[in-house]
Amino acid sequence: MSSRPTDELRAAAQTLMDLADIAQDDLDTDDFWKDYDKATAWRDGFANGFGGVSSDLVAVFPPATAHALAGWLRDSAVLHLPDYECGYCDPQRNPLRLPCPALAVARQINAAASA
Ligand SMILES: [Zn+2]
Repeated sequence: MSSRPTDELRAAAQTLMDLADIAQDDLDTDDFWKDYDKATAWRDGFANGFGGVSSDLVAVFPPATAHALAGWLRDSAVLHLPDYECGYCDPQRNPLRLPCPALAVARQINAAASA
């Protein structure tokens, strides 16, 4: 099944928004987080609960960052509507055929979400 770039970007944005909202709600209400300082709860909770280098990665990707990334994907979706042209996806403007970063991110998110 193929889908339009705009749909791929919007799907990835929605996935991130939904997961970020659920994670933020958990962060705000679950007892696991209550002993952590609000400012560093995400980072410290993962470091203490799971630990390791994977937690170092998660530490720099809290729900607020997921929301910001989702916003960028939604903005990028507009650039992929038929009347607009993404500078990366327009061969005239991208003669080196550099990959579209927004689509690359969206496709990674969508693949992970459907795996
Ligand atoms: Zn593009």
